[in-house]
Amino acid sequence: MSTATSNGHAAEWTPDSWRTKPIKQCPEYPDQNALNKSLRELQRLPPIVHPREIVKLKEHLRAVAHGEAFLLQGGDCAELFDYCEQNAIESKIKLLLQMSLVLIWGADKRVVRIGRMAGQYAKPRSSPTEIVDGKEVPSFRGDILNGFAVDERTLDPNRLVKAYHHSSATLNYIRAAISSGIADLHRPLDWGLGHVRDPALKAKYSEAVNFLTDMLRFMHTIGADKSEKLDTVDLYTSHEGLLLEYEQSLTRLLDNPLHPPSSSSSSSSSSPPAKEYYNTSAHFLWIGDRTRQIDGAHVEFFRGIANPIGIKVGPTTPASDILALLRTLNPSREPGKITLITRYGAAKVSSLLPAHIRTVEDSEYARTVVWQCDPMHGNTQSVGGGIKTRAFSDIFSELQQTLRIHKEQGSYLGGVHLELTGDAVTECLGGSEGLDEDDLSTNYTSFCDPRLNEKQALELAFLIADHYRS
Ligand code: PEP
Ligand code: MN
Repeated sequence: MSTATSNGHAAEWTPDSWRTKPIKQCPEYPDQNALNKSLRELQRLPPIVHPREIVKLKEHLRAVAHGEAFLLQGGDCAELFDYCEQNAIESKIKLLLQMSLVLIWGADKRVVRIGRMAGQYAKPRSSPTEIVDGKEVPSFRGDILNGFAVDERTLDPNRLVKAYHHSSATLNYIRAAISSGIADLHRPLDWGLGHVRDPALKAKYSEAVNFLTDMLRFMHTIGADKSEKLDTVDLYTSHEGLLLEYEQSLTRLLDNPLHPPSSSSSSSSSSPPAKEYYNTSAHFLWIGDRTRQIDGAHVEFFRGIANPIGIKVGPTTPASDILALLRTLNPSREPGKITLITRYGAAKVSSLLPAHIRTVEDSEYARTVVWQCDPMHGNTQSVGGGIKTRAFSDIFSELQQTLRIHKEQGSYLGGVHLELTGDAVTECLGGSEGLDEDDLSTNYTSFCDPRLNEKQALELAFLIADHYRS
């Protein structure tokens, strides 16, 4: 693959061409031999996801870009290897499924689901060290690099292979659970609205739940829930493509499922290439806020893979960078190839988002991107001596403003990107349970950013649905 550079030369892309570019957040392993051994092992292991699945997700995202479907993406900030167990996986699948039912009801559109799951193990950090119990130690960089325990902070290349196996085991159980009926829509779902104190809100949510319960019962009665479409629910996987050694090792030149068979002599220049590079570590990968430099290693790596790609866009993103990124990462202007994941914060979104929308929608990339709102990462705050939290009201406010701005600009907000968990954690303030600062210590288990708990996440889905219905 090649692209024209500013001096007119074509720059060849290879799975390791990123190594010639400046890189941020790059780990320096103490033991190169151990690193090389792990990378060789990764290169030998089979793909975690299949090109056919990647291509199918791209089709769904094309529909999102065209305003015909809605994208729900969510999961932990930092997935731990310990989360690779039945209950944690099931509760997250169930929550994403329940939220998507509410969104289907509200937006009257198909919902595409992507988990921040089965590989979200690498975290960018603002500082290489942190103070723990008065001592300066290397920062925790995610289970794929080092351990959270203070005596496990040295980077360990064996963790790369462990990450592969934990991703595979997680995805294996996601597939097994879904194909065996966890997503079976005729089973009664527990909507647990007991915590909602405000009678008006409770009435609103109950209306949705009653409607959905009746609809599911009706479909069961007429047998419509027996069709394959309803028994199984697609759930794609995603993570931040931060650790390029790992991503490169799982990137393979594979047959393109869209290439017409036996077309060797008749294939025209417009037919899709016979083989493409697929990053088989996940269906969808995104470039984080700290690594999206246009001339940097991450953008170089991402421009060569056939997967759909997300780009975090925030207060530090110049509008001109957005176009440069689109031109580099999606030169053929494939609709749905790029998801712009906007995360400004409730206080900044109204002054920054309109110009970013105009930049894209007034260019040759109009109607090609998926606009997705991440109302989490611009709304992090510290309370009570350094506890990281987010207020539900800020999260909802950014989302509400984003919906309004897209409507005013004539563009389509195609999705949300959330940090959430199916557990009853107390990490974000507010919501109908009314969690306050004193409650945060009750069950704060995140090793990175604060997540919405099950009730807060579902409530956000109800509020989005309400926006579309009113
Ligand atoms: C994240 O998604 O967990 C993250 C680190 O986000 P951002 O790159 O937008 O800061
Ligand atoms: Mn995060």
